[in-house]
Amino acid sequence: MFHYDLLVVFLTIIPFLDTRNVDHTEFLQKYGYLPRGSNQLSSTSLSEALKNMQRMAGLEETGELDERTKRMMERPRCGHPDVQEDRHSRGKRYAQPQFKWTDKVITYGCKSAGTSTRISLDDLRRTMHQAASQWSELADVEILESSVEKPNIQISAGRSSHYPCNVRFDSQTLAHAFFPPHGQIHINDNVHFVMTNFTERIGGNSLYSVVAHEMGHALGFSHSPDSDSVMFAYDTPREWKFTPMDKYRMEMYYGTKKNPTKPKEDERKKEERKKEERGRKTEKEHEKDDIRPNECRVDNPIVVQYRGEYLVFKVS
Ligand SMILES: [Zn+2]
Ligand SMILES: [Zn+2]
Repeated sequence: MFHYDLLVVFLTIIPFLDTRNVDHTEFLQKYGYLPRGSNQLSSTSLSEALKNMQRMAGLEETGELDERTKRMMERPRCGHPDVQEDRHSRGKRYAQPQFKWTDKVITYGCKSAGTSTRISLDDLRRTMHQAASQWSELADVEILESSVEKPNIQISAGRSSHYPCNVRFDSQTLAHAFFPPHGQIHINDNVHFVMTNFTERIGGNSLYSVVAHEMGHALGFSHSPDSDSVMFAYDTPREWKFTPMDKYRMEMYYGTKKNPTKPKEDERKKEERKKEERGRKTEKEHEKDDIRPNECRVDNPIVVQYRGEYLVFKVS
């Protein structure tokens, strides 16, 4: 059962399964498109809910439960709701990150005790390091591993019931995470993970994909409707990346990185200078090879053919 008050984030991806049987109304309720427990639905509210779901899934907004929509609903996906109840206004809002860390240095820790029997601590640390450095490249913030007792983000693995969570893992859940200020990421140790960069399904689920996505939630971000984004809710075969919108959201919350591209910029200018230099040399070399009389070496000459001869006029 979800505990939305605690902002628990579920990643409910079924390992090695592409589809599953889904109750479509339950789906719309589970991910926030329809109020829970509403059995009497008007066709208008259902159509509106479907349109919103389709928008977040990158589908054509038909407002109908067409085949493409059904297939998308059946895809493995993260269990975090796409639309959340706004507890302050008591209204609906589309999930936008509103929880963030205030320090410029965000710490994370990898627990060694009581964790995975499948994932080595080294792999977990390597994966977290990779995700942390890629997220922190996008904004003016550092995400660093720390041995302090209570780092901002704490990743650990467990099976079924796991401390300090009151939510059991089921067979469909890869991981779940908490928004700031909780910042916990829990990996389901019943799932077989492999060390690949993307959502490849060769030999298991990509640990990096799961960790990078969950770290996004631990930094305060909700789902993106862009299927290229690391924060896209559905687990579709794709090579996700950090999109310009991911960068924009990071900058909105953690500030623009100071001179992030300066070294690259310097390098680019250096390269441009070299090219200009090479261009000038080539021009001079061509001048040496030019056997035309000086009179013909003019810019924009007027060339006239007269009685089988070419006459060149210089415009001064
Ligand atoms: Zn998610
Ligand atoms: Zn947990």
